[in-house]
Formats: sequence, structure tokens, C-alpha cells
Amino acid sequence: MGFLDRGLEIKTPEQIDAMRRAGLVVGRTLELLRSSVRAGVTTAELDAVAEDSIRSAGATPSFLGYHGFPASICASVNDEVVHGIPGSRVLAEGDVISIDCGAIVDGWHGDAAITVAVGEVPAEVTELMRVTEEAMWRGIGAARLGGRVTDISHAIETHVRSQGSYGILEDYVGHGIGSQMHLPPNVPNFGRAGRGPKLVRGLALAVEPMITLGTKDTDVLEDEWTVVTTDGAWAAHFEHTFTLTSEGAWVLTALDGGRAALAELGVPYGGRD
Ligand code: MG
Ligand code: MG
Repeated sequence: MGFLDRGLEIKTPEQIDAMRRAGLVVGRTLELLRSSVRAGVTTAELDAVAEDSIRSAGATPSFLGYHGFPASICASVNDEVVHGIPGSRVLAEGDVISIDCGAIVDGWHGDAAITVAVGEVPAEVTELMRVTEEAMWRGIGAARLGGRVTDISHAIETHVRSQGSYGILEDYVGHGIGSQMHLPPNVPNFGRAGRGPKLVRGLALAVEPMITLGTKDTDVLEDEWTVVTTDGAWAAHFEHTFTLTSEGAWVLTALDGGRAALAELGVPYGGRD
């Protein structure tokens, strides 16, 4: 196991390699889910696809049983932002669904999320998805060895604000990850740069902007899980788990390790594959 340096779990290269294996299970499962999203499918059916994909890869779904969560994915539709419980809801043309997924390999975690349109959605929803995904990559791309955690936060907020009037959730944030899904430090999606713990080799972070077409305010439904926007505005959520090596960034849950998106941002790729 990694040791805790002032509360931060620092992984060895071998442990990061195990996280890469978990990340690939998550990345492949999310691609399978993306291609499974269509009008008429239920969120429970998507959950079954995910559990089968994770288990047949020899991994364990990390969400299932986490604080009592009853499924292998979170499925959050339209004004649901995160933590939606899969069930009998049937996806309809014009919906948007955020799917969050986590897997464990040899005790090491990967955690990632995508938002997918069900057929045609309004242009503003397509824009929301684009801005949210880009903000996630800008956040990852702002991370440098020797920098600080909120360099990521600041890059996310700056990009979102530059793109229009959006709500950035403040009550839910990214996080450290490794031998557990949720570890210190918090990785907010807003704020000033240059604060928080130093970014060092062996630290792994899940970066996950949650962005709305309205305000940042949310409520939790009576199921005690589903986070919805208070104003009913639709939301998007993208997430990747990444680490920094001496060469650059390595996005452990991206199938290409983040190579393509990082190259677009001019950020060196630091993966070992
Ligand atoms: Mg997640
Ligand atoms: Mg997460």
C-alpha cells in the first residue's frame, strides 16, 4: 500500500500500474455504455451491462455497496447531476444521461464519468456537454509536478466561465484516489490557483466538473442519493482519474491514456503505455 504523506496517499509506480489496469476496465466499460445508450433502454439495463463488463474483466464494481449504494454505476438523467440510482426509468429521445463508473483491480481504484445524449438534444445541451468535458481536460492539463491542487480547480472554472453562463457545483468535488475511491485531497471545480497540497509523483486524482445550465444549487431526492438541480436545469458531468509522472500527465481511465486530448492542449504525455 502507499504511504500517507500528510494525509496524501503516494503510490509506487507498480501501484500506479495497477490503477491503470483498473482505469482501463472503467474506460472500456464506459465506452460500452456509451454505445448502449439509446431511447427505450432502462438505466437498470445499463447497470447490468456495466456490472458484467467489470466482472468479466476480473475487476470489482466499486460503487456496488459503497455506503449502501445499490448499483455498479450512477445514472443521472437530465436535471439529475450525480449519484442517480439505476432503475426502471426508460431513456427517451432528447434525454441526457451522466454515467459514473468505478472498478477495483488488485485493491486499486479507477473512477470516471461521461455524459451522453440520447439521440438529438437541444444545442445548448450539446454545448453544456462540450464545455464540461473540455473543462475537465483543462483541469488535468493545468496539473504540473510542483504545482498545487487548486491549479486544476482554477483552470476548470476559468474555462467554464469563458464559455458562457453556467452553474458550477460547489458541494460536490473531485478527490484523491488509490487504495480507496475517495481519498484526500478534495479537488474543487472552482477557486484560485496555487493553493492546496503540492502535486507530486505518485499522487492520483479524480477530476470531475459537474456543470449546469442554471445555478450551482442542488437538492438530494428522497432516495438519499440522487443529486438534482434546485432550479430543474439540466447538468453534465465528466470525470477522469489521472496521475503525474516525471514525463507528464497520464490519464488512467482514458483508453489512450489521455494522449490525444493532452496533445491538443500542448501538455506532455507521461504514460507508461
Ligand atoms: Mg465517479
Ligand atoms: Mg469521483
